[in-house]
Amino acid sequence: MGQFGTEFCDHFAIARFKNNAWSNAAIEPLQPLALHPAAHVFHYASTCFEGFKAYKWDDGKAHIFRLADHIARMQRSAESLRLPIPDADLLASMVTDLVARQVDDIPAPPSSLYLRPTLIGTLENIGAAASPSTEAILFVLASPVGDYFAGGSKALKLLVETERARSTEQLGSTKTGGNYAAALGPTLEAKKKYGVDQVLFCPHGDVQETGAANFLVIGDNEIITKPLDSTFLHGMTRDSILKLAAENGYKVTEKNFTVSELLELVKSHEAALSGTAACLSPVGTLVYKDEEIKVRDGNAGPNTEKLRKALQDIQYGLAPDTHGWLTDVS
Ligand SMILES: *Cc1c(COP(=O)(O)O)cnc(C)c1O
Repeated sequence: MGQFGTEFCDHFAIARFKNNAWSNAAIEPLQPLALHPAAHVFHYASTCFEGFKAYKWDDGKAHIFRLADHIARMQRSAESLRLPIPDADLLASMVTDLVARQVDDIPAPPSSLYLRPTLIGTLENIGAAASPSTEAILFVLASPVGDYFAGGSKALKLLVETERARSTEQLGSTKTGGNYAAALGPTLEAKKKYGVDQVLFCPHGDVQETGAANFLVIGDNEIITKPLDSTFLHGMTRDSILKLAAENGYKVTEKNFTVSELLELVKSHEAALSGTAACLSPVGTLVYKDEEIKVRDGNAGPNTEKLRKALQDIQYGLAPDTHGWLTDVS
């Protein structure tokens, strides 16, 4: 398998919205889309996406993680961008039909099939900066992906950015292209200047998240993270880890905390990034005001490992799915 996101199944699912209605969805050979150069998305960034995985177990079936929750999040993203909202049943059947067709292409855990529903505004109107795209295309890509930690899970180094924000109040919890464009410049600068892996965005000292993952502080018996608000993406991995942590006896504290509080916490607590691609990744070093600060001893810690394993055991079919998180497809 190539690098994450570079290999695709030979079919994809597609549906179109026009004249106030969704067309029937179709599974088609993967091919370039023909779009008018005036399409709304090219000019006004009317686009949102989702990302989640299907795992193939020994039972020969694919098991999609938190499908309904990801669809609900995509509906919220579409609504915030004033794009036509994908019908939940339509999108669910696009995903499950595609997964059923490609089930033989899904590698065994820890590899998986990454699914990428995408919605774009296709209204042909370059005068529509202040009006919504009333036409859209919804498609679902499928991409076989390998184990994120194949090279071992080394603890990440993050730059603590206290000036600039990753996104805005309006779009922070929307999974939309512009947010990644906004995070790109600061992230590339930080990689070059400090050799970090990612930037932890903490505008005005408020510890939020990195460019594409949520941030959690994990102690021996508590887990601390920012409460849901409109400034950051509401990760399904974050939510799943918090539920599993509570069941494993951790005290779950969702509260706002500052960079000063974070620097104090990491003397005794682990830190981690959460997201579908990497599940739960340990953070070993923070760079703040040109200084490197170790998170505990700078290495991956046992609580992060334990919680990651608890989640992956469910995803890989090694522990019972007591939350109804998986959708079976054969
Ligand atoms: C997708 C994403 C996450 C992680 O969400 P999951 O549902 O856990 O994959 C976190 N932050 C940002 C900015 C994201 O785009």
